[in-house]
This record gives sequence, structure tokens and C-alpha cells, in this order.
Amino acid sequence: MTRSARPGGVTGAPSPQVREIYGSGLGVQRGEVLVPTLLGGELTEPISCAAAPLVAGSLQRKGCQVRLAPTPKYTDAGTDGDAVLYVATCRQPGGATTAIAAATPIGDRLSASVAMAAVAEWAAAAGSRVVLAAGSPWCMGAERAAETYRRAAAEYSGRGRTVRALGPLSVPPEAAAELDMLGIVPVTSLADAEEGDVVLFPAHGVSSQVRAEAAERGLVVIDATCPLVAQAQEAAGRLAGRGQHVVLIGHPQAAAATPIASRAVGQVTIVENTGGTTALNVRDAQRISYMLQPGLPVEAASGVIGALRSRYPAAQGTPPAGLCYAPSDRLATVRAVAAGSDLVLVLGDPQSGDSRQVVAQARDTGRRVQPLGAVFELTPALIDGATTIGIIESTSAHSGLAAQVIAAIGGLGQLHVARRQVRTDPPALDDREDGARRRGRGGPAPAYHSASVVAAAGLTGTRRTGTAP
Ligand code: SF4
Repeated sequence: MTRSARPGGVTGAPSPQVREIYGSGLGVQRGEVLVPTLLGGELTEPISCAAAPLVAGSLQRKGCQVRLAPTPKYTDAGTDGDAVLYVATCRQPGGATTAIAAATPIGDRLSASVAMAAVAEWAAAAGSRVVLAAGSPWCMGAERAAETYRRAAAEYSGRGRTVRALGPLSVPPEAAAELDMLGIVPVTSLADAEEGDVVLFPAHGVSSQVRAEAAERGLVVIDATCPLVAQAQEAAGRLAGRGQHVVLIGHPQAAAATPIASRAVGQVTIVENTGGTTALNVRDAQRISYMLQPGLPVEAASGVIGALRSRYPAAQGTPPAGLCYAPSDRLATVRAVAAGSDLVLVLGDPQSGDSRQVVAQARDTGRRVQPLGAVFELTPALIDGATTIGIIESTSAHSGLAAQVIAAIGGLGQLHVARRQVRTDPPALDDREDGARRRGRGGPAPAYHSASVVAAAGLTGTRRTGTAP
């Protein structure tokens, strides 16, 4: 028997029809709805049911007990069958086919009507789409720290040493789970470490006091401080040593701020906004330098730099210790993906701070934006009319979620996946110093500026917007 789903779909083409097949060998249990992840008939090769999580989600929302399982070989048994299979098929590139399907036991009329409705609503959402996927939300410093932690665990855990990671574990969720399995113990303070322990310093660094205490107690230290944070720490110490007052443009609560300020106690003021420059009180207006806290979008500093320079014209940017463009690039990536999409899915825990921030940034583009914690949460209404779907992972998203969502959407018809990532290639250190010399200043080039100021000074990095098929 064949029933038609409502016509339409995302391309306006007729939706795939829903067929009702009485079969056996499906293994459907009474009281459940089986959602095949793979479906094969007596005479047909099994075909993928990549949209199975979407169908399962619809059924779960209607209170059904759902089981996902492959059914590589069912038999079309006519009215003698023990189950009813509802199935619609979608065309894929190269002539392949995928199925949207659900099966219920014979005689379970309530489940049968819900199963048919679920298959029909997803069949109606079938069609060709494009997914525009943003690059990883994790920066070089976090990835590098995760790798350093893994190596430390491999080297020391087997030798009966306790490996403790100081501070919040800012690494991808799957890396955090792996480190947990490897026996790494997160701690908030050195007071939790015991003699003989191995202590890991995080990507955002630690204060000079913590470093000194670890050395004094003879703890084995493995330092995963991001090189860009380490350079900023050194720059702060160097400037203070020259009698400069350092204005650190950033947030006092940011994890990297205290470790940087600790290199120049009493000579660093953390300034968050233009108002902070008004409250500044420095002893010598001729000896003032400013630097940008790594982890802050470069553009966020432009107003503060302008206000600082208008009050202290002699204020200088710090030597080119290396700007961190990761936050700026991520923001630009979010905007680029959102601008090119009809609908933006922000993957991860919707309550996480990072998810909320990305959702707000994407909404600023005026696009429809939806946080998504799991693939089962996708609904036909959500993707209705969306031909290009942006997918942006927050840092709370587990590594497989984007692949799951993309695969499920691909189960609804032809899917083209493009990846978009904005990446800035900062100028090499030598180039920046050459630039300063050419301008005849003789001193260090001001590396920490807003994008426009940096561009005017000939110090800008090269920003690339990449879209890979
Ligand atoms: S400085 Fe930049 S790259 Fe390094 S940890 Fe911070 S955000 Fe990541």
C-alpha cells in the first residue's frame, strides 16, 4: 500500500511517497517502534537510513518507546507479516538511495499511526540541501594543551605518579573524557598536590607565585602554557623591568589575566573598557605601554586603545610578542557561516556560556538560529524551508555531534557540505620589526592594536576566508 506525504519538500519537488509494507523478520517487539538504521529486503541490497535519529526523535517526542537497529533483511510477507513497515526513499548523488523508515508490530494501531506520521513528516522535509560547517571551536593553545596532558598521562600515570591538572580543564570534551580515563586529576589549587605528584599547568598559564611554589615544593611541573600567553607574560615582565606601566586590555576574570599581571606586580592595570582609561592613574605619562590580553578578539581593543592614546599620547604598544587572532577568527567564522545560511544550528549544551555567546553572535546577522544539544532534537519544522544550514560547534559539543547532524540531514536527500573557516596569518616577527624600522621609529612596532590601527601601521595579519567543498 502506498500513501503520499504532503507535497513540497525543501526544493518544492514532490516529497517521497510513504509505502506501507507488511513484513516479517523485522524483529519488532510489542510496545515499541523500531527505527531501522539500515534496511534491506529479500531481493534488495541494504540501504542506509541515515535520517533514523530524526525519525526516532519525532517518535520520542510523541511518547513512543523507540529502538534503533539495522534490519538488513526483512521479508515482504503480505498480510501474513508480523510487522508493518512505513518507508519512504530519497535519491542521493550517483543514483544511490536512502530510506526514512519505522516499523511497528501488527495490531498496534496507535503506534502504527504515530510511526507513519513520523515517516511522513520527515519525507515531506526531504530535499537537496547545503550544509555550511564552521571549523573547530578549539584554538591552537587548547589543542596543544590537550596533547601535552595526554603525553604526561602516558609517561607518568603508569609509573604510579599522580598527575594533576591545575585549573579548569579547557580542552575538547572528548579529550577531557580521555584524560579522565588516563587518570588525570583536575585540581583548583596547588594545595591539592602532594609530594611526588606531577602538576600540569594549563594553556592560560599560572601566576609567578604558583610557579615559585611548585618549584619550592619540588613538584614535577609540565607546562602547557600557550606560547602566545607565555610571550605576553614575558613581555609584561620585560616592560615592567624597563620602568613602564603596563595597561593590559582585557578582563580581570579572564584566566590568562592574572598570570600576565603577576609578572609585573604593581605595574599592571587591567582595563576592560574606555571608562577604565579615565580611571587610570600612572606615575609617569611618558612610560606607559599597553598590550592585549590573549584570548580577547583583537577588534575589541580598538576603542580602549583610542581612548588610551588620546589621554596618553606617548603610550606604546608592546613589542610584537605575537597577537592571538583565534577569538577574532572564530567570531568572523561564526558571522560568515551565519550570513551564508538560512538556518544556523549551534551545537552543544545550550546552557553553556560558549553556546550562548555563539548563538548571540549568529543572531546578530539576522538569521534564524537554534541551539541544538543532540541530533534527536531536530524537527521538520525547524529545517522547513532551509536550503543552506549553517552548523557551528560550541566548545561544549562532543566531537561526533556535528558529524551526526550532517549525516542525519544527508539522509533526507542530496547534501553538499562546505566548510568555512576564517584564519588570520599573522605577520612574521621579522616583518613587524622591519615595518617599525622603515617608519623610522627605531623602537619596537606597536603590535597590539585594533585591526584598523594595525593596518595603518602596516602590521596587520592576512585574513583568509576559506570555504572548502
Ligand atoms: S592565546 Fe589564543 S591560541 Fe593561546 S590559548 Fe589563548 S585563545 Fe588559545
